[in-house]
Amino acid sequence: MRFGTGEAAANLAAEVDQRGARSVMVIAEAREAELARRVTADIDVALHHSDVAMHVPVETADRARAAARDNGIDLLVSIGGGSTTGLAKAIALTTGLPIVAVPTTYAGSEATNVWGLTEAARKTTGVDDRVLPATVIYDAELTYSLPADLSVASGLNGLAHCVDSLWAPRADPINAALATEGMRTLAGGLPKVVADPSGAEGREQALYGAYLSAVSFASAGAAMHHKICHVLGGTYDLPHAQTHAIVLPHVLAHNAPAAPEAAARIAGALGTGDAVSGLVQLRDRLRAPTALREIGFAEENIGEAAELSVAAIPSSNPCPVTTDDIRALLGNAWAGTAPEVSR
Ligand code: NAD
Repeated sequence: MRFGTGEAAANLAAEVDQRGARSVMVIAEAREAELARRVTADIDVALHHSDVAMHVPVETADRARAAARDNGIDLLVSIGGGSTTGLAKAIALTTGLPIVAVPTTYAGSEATNVWGLTEAARKTTGVDDRVLPATVIYDAELTYSLPADLSVASGLNGLAHCVDSLWAPRADPINAALATEGMRTLAGGLPKVVADPSGAEGREQALYGAYLSAVSFASAGAAMHHKICHVLGGTYDLPHAQTHAIVLPHVLAHNAPAAPEAAARIAGALGTGDAVSGLVQLRDRLRAPTALREIGFAEENIGEAAELSVAAIPSSNPCPVTTDDIRALLGNAWAGTAPEVSR
């Protein structure tokens, strides 16, 4: 791990040197070409690859794997958000190549051994230590250009990792501690990011929170919230961070009454007396998106999404979840109505 605001280029050069890499593949979306140019200014690049797509379609992964093989690549450098890190992971999964990840959002994929691929509109995720980046280079300056609305949605994606890890299959006191610090830091940092998008303080706090959230998520495993969002993202191609931001208060409202310890922990980290209203207040203060219908989800897909989701929810969930529960939850999330606290 290398932290340093304004130091990504120097840190990447030191990392490439230390690893003795001879053929580096840099993965960055065309939109992040300028960022990538700055970060790679001090290294030799064998191959620039910009063919990146959200949720890593298998065809995109296959093309990137072939490019790595054909160019004799020995180190992958990903510069970008979770989609870019995800493509590097897809290459590492089949080749074992090491990844140096330079994140530019708060998705946190750089800190997990979780990979995701989408084939025929179904997203598959798995766990494999080969995809865990060997080194992460954090530089808050690289996130100054992330628009405030996307920063907020991405930060709430981080917060969702923390909340979901409290009732995930491998939840334990250590990942709960990481999640609590992650929630506290994200809740404190995101309003500063909105107030001053080019200020180092809020951006550094948000990156630190994103890292903690991802470590706690990777340790605890995916739970109800992530299972629903994977269906929405993989099957209906919804934007990842915004989907998480919209769905999270509804999942929290469903589970909180059955998980009083987790709810108290969340409320404490958000600095409020009640977890659900505290999260809704934070979301409103940050002007985060509230309705799935505004990000491309069609009402007629609610039933199918509910059925796909319920089958994936782990038994660790603090209360039972029926297809009807998720249908109602998604109905509220679709319309943008207030989350319903279950009784
Ligand atoms: P993303 O990587 O798709 O980026 C969203 C948008 O932000 C893109 O248009 C991108 O070009 C732009 N962008 C990124 N950084 C920017 C910057 N600094 N300035 C300006 N624009 C910038 O979105 P994401 O939310 O970061 O990642 C979503 C993907 O990551 C999903 O596929 C999700 O499944 C995956 N993910 C995986 C894990 C894991 O542990 N495996 C964890 C979280 C997310």
